[in-house]
Amino acid sequence: MSARVLVVDDILPNVKLLEAKLASEYYEVITATSGQEALEKVERDGPDIILLDVMMPGMDGFEVCRTIKSNPAYAHIPIVMVTALTDAADRVRGLEAGADDFLSKPLNDTALMARVRSLVRLKMTVDEWRVRENTAAQLGVVEKNTTAMNEPVENARILVVEDQDYDAQKIVEALKVDKDTVDVVTTGTEAMERVISTDYDLMVISLNLMSEDGLRLSSHIRSSERSRSVPILMVAGEEDMSRIAHGLEIGAHDYILRPVDKNELLARVRTQIRRKRFQERLRSTYEISLSMALTDSLTGLYNRRYFDVHLQKLLQQNQTSRKSLGILMIDIDNFKIVNDTYGHAVGDEILKEFSERLQDKLRGFDMVARLGGEEFVALLPDVKNEMAHIVAERLRKAICDKPFTCKVPEGSLKITTSLGGTIVPAGTMIEPNDALKQSDDALYLAKDNGRNICYFHETGALNPADHVPEPRLFLE
Ligand code: GH3
Ligand code: MG
Ligand code: MG
Repeated sequence: MSARVLVVDDILPNVKLLEAKLASEYYEVITATSGQEALEKVERDGPDIILLDVMMPGMDGFEVCRTIKSNPAYAHIPIVMVTALTDAADRVRGLEAGADDFLSKPLNDTALMARVRSLVRLKMTVDEWRVRENTAAQLGVVEKNTTAMNEPVENARILVVEDQDYDAQKIVEALKVDKDTVDVVTTGTEAMERVISTDYDLMVISLNLMSEDGLRLSSHIRSSERSRSVPILMVAGEEDMSRIAHGLEIGAHDYILRPVDKNELLARVRTQIRRKRFQERLRSTYEISLSMALTDSLTGLYNRRYFDVHLQKLLQQNQTSRKSLGILMIDIDNFKIVNDTYGHAVGDEILKEFSERLQDKLRGFDMVARLGGEEFVALLPDVKNEMAHIVAERLRKAICDKPFTCKVPEGSLKITTSLGGTIVPAGTMIEPNDALKQSDDALYLAKDNGRNICYFHETGALNPADHVPEPRLFLE
């Protein structure tokens, strides 16, 4: 995986050393020797990850980190602080400034490379969601410019897998500060059971379990659909460095060394919780924007864009299946008069209820879309002629049988609708537009024959008497 790494250190030999190590792993390296220069390079070169020295004259590493992490345009770039400071309190300061990790010099190469690789991988995922968020923002569906740093960290649900009682208690104690709900288990089997039944925000897994391999458990968690997105924080000893590196390779997000420092643990947990919540928000934003792009905001029905794709798919299936497809065009009668007499707001009320009535009378796998204005279309897969006729009549009656309640002096309005239908027999090759034209022409004839009737391509006008109210037999 190639990525661009920005190395920041005020001492040139340090820069050169890191540059050489990274270049030998085929990373593209850019460098800066002051905080100010680092900020300029971030803006100019868009690095995928930053290795940042803490002690520098002028702007120090903490400040650089805070500046980058508070800017929505750059906050997603992972930052690893690299420092001679070894105090847990300094590490916590770095993590609180938004750093993704804090490594002490002299650097352990295995730890460094594993870290860089895993953070770069993580950034790729976030990048993907950011692109989608951008599109959504352009559609005006979401506000942009949010950062993970703004996410709340409290009240997370955390599963701890640790059989050393003392450390387990320490972890539980530390997490009380954030009012997290913490479950502790001592074996991998219990952990898997819990993960399947509960949505966790984070797992803390010991790599020193007596009864099994914490790495194997982590890999299990990663490969199971249900638990794949739960971040993993490993707990291990300094002597476990190569296993930690392996853990990062298989997708664990972070680790903490024993003896566990409570504040450092809390800071690392918070980083993971923030990041998870940020990604979840990006994802749900995207899903909302997707649904907004494909549905009509007034009625909640699918829109033309969705309908076109769906019809094409159904017609393709139809060529090889033994099931015919019914297409019903549905258009409100004299709707212009309603609008002109009572105003647009009343018209909108009617459109909403009209849509609900249609949906209510169709089967679960039938699909109805609003093509625009007061024109709708229903697609009835796997339908025989008589059945399509029954459905069309049922829809027509659902509209004209009961007046529409709305804000007019009379309290309600009588509305009718005309329907034009066509049945595409199984195995037919037909272009979507041609199929639509058949039902459109039928609709035109329905209007021409007096409205409030159903007219079918090749069959002609339906006689309502032939389709006496039939129970909801076909509605399941
Ligand atoms: P026909 O029976 O021949 O279908 O006559 P019509 O009046 O229903 O058809 P026409 O196409 O002449 O007019 C459609 C009217 O629908 C025009 C407009 O006032 C109204 N309309 C279209 N879209 C909307 C909408 O989103 N909201 C409201 N309130 N009215 C709409
Ligand atoms: Mg109309
Ligand atoms: Mg019309």
